[in-house]
Amino acid sequence: MAQRPTVSDGGSKKTSRVRVAVRLRPYVSRQDEKGEGPCVRGLDSQNLEIINWRNATETVKYHFDVFHGEQTTQQDVFLSSVKPILPHILNGQNASVFAYGPTGAGKTHTMLGTAEQPGVIPRAVREVFNLVSAKDENEGWDYSIGMSYLEIYNEKVLDLLSPSSQDLPIREDKDKNILIPGLTHTTLSSFSDFDKQFVPATLNRTTASTKLNQRSSRSHAILLIKVVRTQRAITQRQQTGKLYLVDLAGSEDNRRTGNQGIRLKESGAINLSLFTLSKVVDALNSGTAVRVPYRDSKLTRLLQDSLGGSAHSVMITNIAPENKYYFDTFGALNFAAKSKLIVNKPFTRETVAVLPVKRSREEHEAGGCVT
Ligand code: ADP
Ligand code: MG
Repeated sequence: MAQRPTVSDGGSKKTSRVRVAVRLRPYVSRQDEKGEGPCVRGLDSQNLEIINWRNATETVKYHFDVFHGEQTTQQDVFLSSVKPILPHILNGQNASVFAYGPTGAGKTHTMLGTAEQPGVIPRAVREVFNLVSAKDENEGWDYSIGMSYLEIYNEKVLDLLSPSSQDLPIREDKDKNILIPGLTHTTLSSFSDFDKQFVPATLNRTTASTKLNQRSSRSHAILLIKVVRTQRAITQRQQTGKLYLVDLAGSEDNRRTGNQGIRLKESGAINLSLFTLSKVVDALNSGTAVRVPYRDSKLTRLLQDSLGGSAHSVMITNIAPENKYYFDTFGALNFAAKSKLIVNKPFTRETVAVLPVKRSREEHEAGGCVT
């Protein structure tokens, strides 16, 4: 049979695209030992440009669904990329929000944030409680909100609400819902109840290992918020909506950093999950009837019912402006971009006072910044 597009005539086979946003974090001079200034900058609300080290007279311009510049607040990111999808989970639909990007580019800041600048997770959970309390009683549904919190580390599924538990299996029921038998699921009575359970579990995650940064940058932290609604009628109809909020492992190329032994094995596993995620996002966004390879990694298998299909998904790709992230930024942009264009114009480094803009290619190579 000839290939048919899956995105067609508005029929039942409609597959949702994954919306892609890019967030550039502010430039930090202590991350830029050579004082070279930023090598990437925003152009407008959908485009950015990065120096092309192959040819210093060129920049590469990328186009996305949304671009969030370094001035963007936590509130802006939440309002534009996350809040609009939340009402769907009260209607029994699924959704997922991921933070993608190299270690140090702002994934945890975006998802978790700080007490002063709360990120997507606390804002989304608060909003889900608000949406439920705003529901009209007369519509005849009772709502219940619950959470699970897990980590995928080295292709193992670990329960962060029950840290002594072992690798958990991922299963699919007859209606194609993905489940994890044995995973702790806690009912939440309020936002402060969520906070009480989530904060210690987050600490669990980061103190579980002595090499805490290594581990947290190599594992995928996955918060699941589930909304179950039950109809107040004889039939007691029930619908479940799931929201996955995911702080992904660092997207940096671990082969370059010379990892060996167990670290290398971990890198391989992480690369498998992220590599598969990129194939899944590509397959969903290409709009053609290619096989979506959900089963090729734990991460994508777990997210199968909440990524693509009738689900609402957003990927926030975090990038950093300093040169030392150059390769990883390029990698992340190439994963995230809808399109790119080489532009014939030099990149002016506005924050640089000392160094000349243009150096020879050899010098760039010596500095490790050449593609
Ligand atoms: P990742 O989780 O991707 O490794 P982090 O979220 O830990 O990165 O961010 C690295 C550092 O940069 C942290 O100190 C964080 O507070 C800071 N940071 C990241 N994004 C921003 C931002 N948008 N505004 C201010 N500081 C940020
Ligand atoms: Mg992090």
